[in-house]
Amino acid sequence: MALTKCPDCGRDVSTIAKACPNCGRPMNINKDGSVVTIQKTSKKIKAQGCIGGFLTIVGFMLFSLGPEVSPEVMVVGFLLLIVGVIMLIWSRIAKWWNHD
Ligand SMILES: [Zn+2]
Repeated sequence: MALTKCPDCGRDVSTIAKACPNCGRPMNINKDGSVVTIQKTSKKIKAQGCIGGFLTIVGFMLFSLGPEVSPEVMVVGFLLLIVGVIMLIWSRIAKWWNHD
């Protein structure tokens, strides 16, 4: 069990402790001293996945309606579809990357 210094009060704290027992500072600390923001990151990734899914659906709808409306709608739908799919794939990669 390794010990680390609490950045706020300087007391030795276990690296597996969730918070400093002296001052209550959260102890999920990165090597550079910043607090790990796992929750924030996963929320961002989730939001990206949601937006990606939304864009994919809207893009697909526009793309399939395009031939009846105008070629421009088809092009816009196709672009939205591509951006949506890229965002979906990217959020998958980011999830996998964070789990490692
Ligand atoms: Zn402390």
